[in-house]
Amino acid sequence: MTIVPSSVNGALDPDDENGIKSSSRKSKAGSPAGGRSEVLSAKENPSDRRSDLNLRPQSLAEYIGQERTRAMLEMSIAAAKSRTEALDHILFYGPPGLGKTSLANVIAIEMRAKIHLSSGPSLERPRDIIGLLHQLEEGDVLFIDEIHRLNRIAEELLYPAIEDFAIDLTAGKGHATRTMRLPLPRFTLIGATTKAAMLSNALRDRFGFVCRLEFYSIPELSKIVKRTAGILSIEMNDQGVEIIASRARGTPRIANRLVRLVRDYAQYKEHKVVDADVARVALETYQVDMQGLDPTDRKLLSILIDTYGGGPVGIEALAASLGEDSDTVEDVYEPFLIQCGFIQRTPRGRVATAAAYGHLGKTAPHGQLTLKLGNDAEP
Ligand code: ADP
Repeated sequence: MTIVPSSVNGALDPDDENGIKSSSRKSKAGSPAGGRSEVLSAKENPSDRRSDLNLRPQSLAEYIGQERTRAMLEMSIAAAKSRTEALDHILFYGPPGLGKTSLANVIAIEMRAKIHLSSGPSLERPRDIIGLLHQLEEGDVLFIDEIHRLNRIAEELLYPAIEDFAIDLTAGKGHATRTMRLPLPRFTLIGATTKAAMLSNALRDRFGFVCRLEFYSIPELSKIVKRTAGILSIEMNDQGVEIIASRARGTPRIANRLVRLVRDYAQYKEHKVVDADVARVALETYQVDMQGLDPTDRKLLSILIDTYGGGPVGIEALAASLGEDSDTVEDVYEPFLIQCGFIQRTPRGRVATAAAYGHLGKTAPHGQLTLKLGNDAEP
């Protein structure tokens, strides 16, 4: 007797990824970080992965920033522990490198639970997800990174698992088809995504908590830089810390990477202490400017200003001029340029702000810019 998940019995096409055009999925999944310098890419590289082993926070107290999310988690973890129950399912969303995986780890540690790490693209076949669910024990944490990339079959198998702690399996064919419901232990699903909008409503609604992670402030990043320097035994003074923090694009992963690069530079130049000068010169060597912008960010701003008169310009035209696909511009470059206040999204397209002109040493056509933003800025 073969047992297959019941959702496979229907006419589901594994390539039809939950109503999201597979071509767009493919271009996103396959698109490299474009021209983004490796130094400032928020995406994880092998060297990040190695150093992450020592750097990941091990408790909520060690997890810096994201105050609102932390406060909410602190309460919920305490309540779940006092009831000896699994924590409700949680979805974290936000740009890469902000600490979603770290937070999932911290939750498992705080709950004294085992964590199973997985990701949307690796759960391609029904047996992948069934196998994963079968490994779960009472109170375990199941972390699914890039959960927006789960295919429809996997997603449908997950629904009863999340809602009723059960899995529906179908045996036989045609008239002889029988569905069996197998119970699962109570577990906590933690989903992480950089693209909350690509998640189906049905899946999103099944999470008890949906938390958006924010970019970090410079004081928060300074704490992270200090902690990392301490763990890596790097002598760094406060000015050195602040220079690295202010160029880390609001992102802990980049902050940690910059610390490692500055350490290499200091070692090579035989500087015993990383101070402001050492940090500044080291980061200039890697073409990271005062605001944490790299050459491609600056090129994007100058195209917006010089070629399109400061905008508004559509994302497609902007991306074509930059030689990138629009997904890369939207996912990789824009979030931080918007966060810095250099670009504004308006219904008519992207507009460069006065700060962007200032950053490139240009004078903004003030009246025109104010009018555009005043009339069209999205809330
Ligand atoms: P994401 O899953 O959002 O891509 P990660 O959790 O992998 O991000 O974070 C990247 C690295 O940044 C981690 O290894 C960790 O060292 C560091 N980090 C992230 N958030 C924090 C934080 N709040 N406090 C301290 N370090 C952090």
